[in-house]
Amino acid sequence: MPSEFEKALPILRKIEAAGYEAYFVGGSVRDTILQRPIHDVDIATSAYPSEVKSLFKRTADTGIEHGTVMILDHGTGYEVTTFRTESGYQDYRRPDKVTFVRSLKEDLKRRDFTINALALSENGKITDLFGGLNDMSKKIIRAVGDPEERFNEDALRMMRAVRFASQLDFKIEQQTLTGIYDHSELLKKIAVERIHSEFVKMMLGVDAKNGLNLMIKSQLYQFVPDFSEHLTVLQKIVATHFDLDNEVQVWALFTSMFQFNRDQVISFLKRWKTANKIINDVILTTELIFQIKSHKVGNLELYKAGKQNVQNAVAIISNYTDFDSAKLIKAYDQLPITTKKQLNVTGGDLIKRGILNPGPKLGETLEALEKAVILGKINNQDSELIAAAMALNKE
Ligand code: ATP
Ligand code: MG
Repeated sequence: MPSEFEKALPILRKIEAAGYEAYFVGGSVRDTILQRPIHDVDIATSAYPSEVKSLFKRTADTGIEHGTVMILDHGTGYEVTTFRTESGYQDYRRPDKVTFVRSLKEDLKRRDFTINALALSENGKITDLFGGLNDMSKKIIRAVGDPEERFNEDALRMMRAVRFASQLDFKIEQQTLTGIYDHSELLKKIAVERIHSEFVKMMLGVDAKNGLNLMIKSQLYQFVPDFSEHLTVLQKIVATHFDLDNEVQVWALFTSMFQFNRDQVISFLKRWKTANKIINDVILTTELIFQIKSHKVGNLELYKAGKQNVQNAVAIISNYTDFDSAKLIKAYDQLPITTKKQLNVTGGDLIKRGILNPGPKLGETLEALEKAVILGKINNQDSELIAAAMALNKE
């Protein structure tokens, strides 16, 4: 058992000592069997939320209406969720009704894929009611139960299937795949935030090319923001080799291939409900990609983008052209300064020496000095900086 499970064993034991059942479930069990690193340890139990809460001193009601209680244990939080069934799904996304039950089987039945429907008990025994272990050994994603019904209940599961296929390098089982082809339009009903999260994980998976290809073939691509107008480019992307390692690179691959300008990048990413920090970096990365391609990249462009975005741009360009990335990284590393803070003169210095008074001129002068240093016109030394500031401000 991995150490993450070992550490959580006292929680399972405590629940069981009180007469209830408790298991590790979901992604952590799947990833352990596949010998992949695990991130969150989820626990499922026959105890009702109030019963769970009565057993532990420190708990938080993180998702109590869905049956989830967070147990705080020496700085780690464990989500303990009561076995439940779901029903309703009138809107193809959220169940209308969640019912707490005492049966593990009922809880595993509501899970999306066989590989995600395994439970691991405190003594190391695995409960596998739907052939998840066998599917895992054959590298297959298979819906639990009837795929059509399951995608009708929650259309996000189609994106999850594609995401797991890419992340785990698995194939989607034929009937499950047919279910996706037949129900792709239901993805319209799903909140963009949820699609976003699965899509980025898919693009960062080892078999992202296959994932994107599946989205095209199944028409899922038509029901995510802005992709429907770009089929030809999407097909081009699928035909190239790409290997991405963060979210900024995921988006910059698309925005650069779609030839988006700054405003288009912003509206595209806003429609995808992307975080502002990411949007900013995608803009800088995309601009740098265009500058590199048109051989218009100099010190100022590198400085403005920042190291991480230089690396992002390089990672994307290297995917489709033979390109001397080491040279560009070296150029960045040789910049005289990489942040404003490294400038060897401050506004205060210029005021103290009587060169300038506080006001807009001061900011303009500092900016001019910053630029001159980056371009190598002057050295980043007080004497040179002061002389340049005086030259800029003589009446
Ligand atoms: P990850 O490693 O990315 O966290 P995960 O499989 O743990 O993958 P979660 O979203 O954390 O994914 O969900 C935990 C578990 O809850 C899943 O393994 C699955 O059993 C169940 N689950 C999650 N989302 C759904 C869904 N939309 N429909 C049915 N079951 C789901
Ligand atoms: Mg998880």
